[in-house]
Amino acid sequence: MQVFIVGAGPGDPELITVKGQKLLQTADVIIYAGSLVNPALLALAKQGAKIYNSASMTLPEVIETIEQAVKIGAMVVRLHTGDPSIYGAIQEQMDELKRRQIEYTVIPGVSSFLATAAALKQEYTLPGISQTVIITRNEGRTPVPEKEKLASLAAHGATMCIFLSVHMLDDVVKELIAGGYDSTTPIAIVQKASWPEEKIIRATLATIVEELKDQDITRTAMIVVSRCLDTDYELSRLYAPEFSHMYRDAK
Ligand code: SAH
Repeated sequence: MQVFIVGAGPGDPELITVKGQKLLQTADVIIYAGSLVNPALLALAKQGAKIYNSASMTLPEVIETIEQAVKIGAMVVRLHTGDPSIYGAIQEQMDELKRRQIEYTVIPGVSSFLATAAALKQEYTLPGISQTVIITRNEGRTPVPEKEKLASLAAHGATMCIFLSVHMLDDVVKELIAGGYDSTTPIAIVQKASWPEEKIIRATLATIVEELKDQDITRTAMIVVSRCLDTDYELSRLYAPEFSHMYRDAK
């Protein structure tokens, strides 16, 4: 196996998996998503490794680089931010590799919506409040299917993690309220979760736009909307004394 599509994690270079780290250390060729991958991870590369920033490359160029490397027996790591399966544009790369009969393996990563929960010190799934996490984005240049528009998803009142949308916050808030969220619903914005410059802003749907006005937050930020951020909740059954389960009898 020579080609690995690796999740780099949300930013902190220690949040890559052990497997991903080992592969980075042994790769002959590294192609990284330069817009978001922490360059500190590239310090792991062995001497002489060829390093490419995919931010300035087209899909055919990325595939060509991988194919050439494979031809001479080199080991390739394609490094994507967070987890590669979420807004990673990896399907088109994998399909192209498959078409050329190039084998590959995918190594998962810590997605930024999870690093955001850690930064907020927040559980997304509180009993009686929300048991669902919706991962989504506002429509931008990439279209979003009609049934998945923010307003439709907001109708569930579930915890929502909204990627790629902080620069359209006005619009996001309007959609969420139109969909049924009360304007008192808490919202948090975390910029660069797990990076040294991480920034957290907490407000409500009514106040967030004003709150963000003087902050320079236009990219690399996660929007979290959830009643979980401010409410009392029921204790989980898992640790309740009177509740027995597979590993513990009730007291
Ligand atoms: N595959 C990535 C997402 C890539 S899309 C993942 O799993 O995290 C890029 C979007 O991810 C950004 O617009 C932002 O919404 C979010 N993002 C990436 N890194 C982030 C971070 N460290 N903190 C907060 N949001 C982040």
